[in-house]
Amino acid sequence: MGGSAAVITIAHRPGCAPVTSRPPGQVPRALRYWARRGICQAGEMNPSTALPHVVIVGGGIAGLAAAFFLRDEPVRVTVLEGSPRLGGKLSVSEVAGVPVDEGAEALLVTRPEGTGLIAEVGLASDRMAPGTTSSAIWTLGALRPLPRRQFMGVPSDLAELARSGVVSGAGAARASQDLDLPPTTRDGDVPVAAFVGARFGAEVVDRLVDPLLGGVYAGRSSDLSFDATMPALAAASRRYQSLAEAAGSLLPPPSPVAVPVTAGEQDRAPAGTRSGGSVFTSLSGGLGQLPAVLAKASGAEVRTAAMTRALSPMPGAAGAPATGPRWRLTVGSAAVEEVIDADAVILAVPARPAARLLVGVPGASAAITAFGEISYASMAIVTLAYPRSAFPGAFPGSGLAALGWSGYLVPAVDGRAVKAVTFSSVKWPHLAEATAPGAEPLEIVRCSVGRIGEEALLQRADEELAALAAAELAAATGVNGAPVAHRVTRWGGALPQYTVGHLDRVARIRAAVATLPGLAVCGAAYEGVGIPACVATARAAANQVTEFLRGGRQ
Ligand SMILES: Cc1cc2nc3c(=O)[nH]c(=O)nc-3n(C[C@H](O)[C@H](O)[C@H](O)COP(=O)(O)OP(=O)(O)OC[C@H]3O[C@@H](n4cnc5c(N)ncnc54)[C@H](O)[C@@H]3O)c2cc1C
Repeated sequence: MGGSAAVITIAHRPGCAPVTSRPPGQVPRALRYWARRGICQAGEMNPSTALPHVVIVGGGIAGLAAAFFLRDEPVRVTVLEGSPRLGGKLSVSEVAGVPVDEGAEALLVTRPEGTGLIAEVGLASDRMAPGTTSSAIWTLGALRPLPRRQFMGVPSDLAELARSGVVSGAGAARASQDLDLPPTTRDGDVPVAAFVGARFGAEVVDRLVDPLLGGVYAGRSSDLSFDATMPALAAASRRYQSLAEAAGSLLPPPSPVAVPVTAGEQDRAPAGTRSGGSVFTSLSGGLGQLPAVLAKASGAEVRTAAMTRALSPMPGAAGAPATGPRWRLTVGSAAVEEVIDADAVILAVPARPAARLLVGVPGASAAITAFGEISYASMAIVTLAYPRSAFPGAFPGSGLAALGWSGYLVPAVDGRAVKAVTFSSVKWPHLAEATAPGAEPLEIVRCSVGRIGEEALLQRADEELAALAAAELAAATGVNGAPVAHRVTRWGGALPQYTVGHLDRVARIRAAVATLPGLAVCGAAYEGVGIPACVATARAAANQVTEFLRGGRQ
C-alpha cells in the first residue's frame, strides 16, 4: 500500500469493517490515535479526510513552526500563505552571486526554541557562528565602541561608558549619578526613555538605548514599553536602586569576548557570550533557507498565493455537536473564491490581518480592539557589495575586517537615514568565501533604513535609497567608489511596536481568543519579535489546538 491515502483497520468499533491491515509498528501514530478513539467513517478511515483539519493562516516562521510542531499529531494540517513566497520576514537571495539574507539574518542561541527547531529539521550542521560580534556606534563624528557591559544599551559599567566616547563628558557625568540617585518609582508601565532617562540622563537614552531598540523594533524609546521590551531589566530594576547595578545583575561575568548587537531579539540578549561562543547563530545558506526546509519537514499541505480573506464560525457551531468543523475560511480573490472548513485554526499573521479576519466572529471584539492598538514600523534593507580593496584597511586588501567591528548603530539624534549597518562579510565569514574563484573578494554590507514615523524616507526610489546608504557608509568607513551591486528589500509594516501597555493588550487578545473554541494565535505580535520568541508562540498555539481537539472540542 503506498501513497497518502493509507487505509487502516478499525477493528474494535462495530461497523468499521476491516479493509486491510499492517503490523502495528507500521501504523502511523495519527491513525493509531484515532483508531484508539474508535473514529471511522463508513467502515474505514481515510486519513486525508477523517483526521481533524487544522488550518494555519500565515506561512512565516511562526506559522510554519506551528505546522512542524503538529507533524506527529493526529491531524491534517494546511498552511495558507497569502503571498507568492513562504517565510514572511525570512528570505534569502543573491547579491553579486552571494546568497545574503534579505530579512532576519541571525537568531539567539540563549533561548532554546530557535536552535532547537533548526536541529529538529536537520540543519544543525549548517549553523554558522559570527566571525566577530563587537559593534560600534557611529556618533559624535566617529565610530566608537559599543560598551560591552550593557544590557540593551543600559550601561552597567559607567567607567567603560565614559571611555567609549559614545556620550560626551557631561553625559558620562550625568550617567554616573545613577549610583547615588534615590530609587525611581513608577506606577505601571512606562516608556523606556522615561525610566532610563531618569536614571542616566538623555544622552544614554539617545546614543545607546534608542539605537539598540531601533535595531530590534525600528521603534523609539520614547514610545516603547519598558515592561514589554526589557522585561528582565524592568523586573530587576524593582530590586536595585541603581539601574546600572540592575543591568549588571543580568550580564554574565566580564569576559574578553565582545558583544553582538544586530539581531531582532530584545530583552533576553545579554551583552555577553555563552561559554565559548557568540549568543547568535545563522545558517550557511542564510536563515532564509529555513522556511522551505520547515515546510517540507512539517508534512503539511503548504499553499502560497492563498490569501485568507474571511474567517467565520460554522453556522450553528455554538450549539452544534462537538464533532463538526468549527471554522470556515474564505480564501483567494473574490473572483476565484474557495471555502475551506477547519476543526481548528491558528492565526499566524500580524495584528492587522488578524483583526480583519476576526471581524464578524462573535466574542472577538476585545481582541480586534487590542490588535488595532498595535502599530507597525516599516523599513528597508539596502544590501551593498564592494570589492575588498574599496575599503581603506590597515594594509592593502585587509578590507572591512580591519575596522574590527561587525557593524554599527546610528543614533536617530544624529539625523542619518541609515539606523544600523551590518558588515555581513565580516560578521559571517562564509559570505566572504562565497566570492567566485579567482575574483577579488567582495565585502557585503547590509544597511537598515527606516524607523517608525520615517515612512517618507522609504518612499524614495530604490536607486536613491541605495545611493543614500552608500554615501553614509562612505562617511562612516571611508569606502571608496560605488558598490558593484546593490539590492533594496522593502519591509512594509514589518515590526510590531511594543509600546506602553503592550502586555495588557496581549493579555486582552489572549483572553478573548481563549473564549473562541479551536482558535489560537502566534507570531511576532505577542511576546517577542525575535525568531525564538515567535517559535515559542507557535509551539504554544500548536499545543492549544491539540489539547482542544483531544479534549472533546468544547
Ligand atoms: C528586516 C528584518 C530583520 C530582522 N532580523 C531579525 C534577526 O536577525 N533575528 C531575529 O530573531 N528576528 C529578526 N527580525 C524579526 C523576525 O524576523 C520577525 O519578527 C519574524 O520573522 C516574524 O515571523 P511571523 O511568522 O510572526 O510573521 P511574518 O514573518 O510576518 O509572517 C506572517 C505571514 O502571514 C502572511 N499573511 C498575512 N496575512 C495573511 C492572510 N490574510 N492570509 C494568508 N497569509 C497572510 C504574510 O504574507 C506573512 O508571510 C527581523 C525582522 C525584519 C523585518
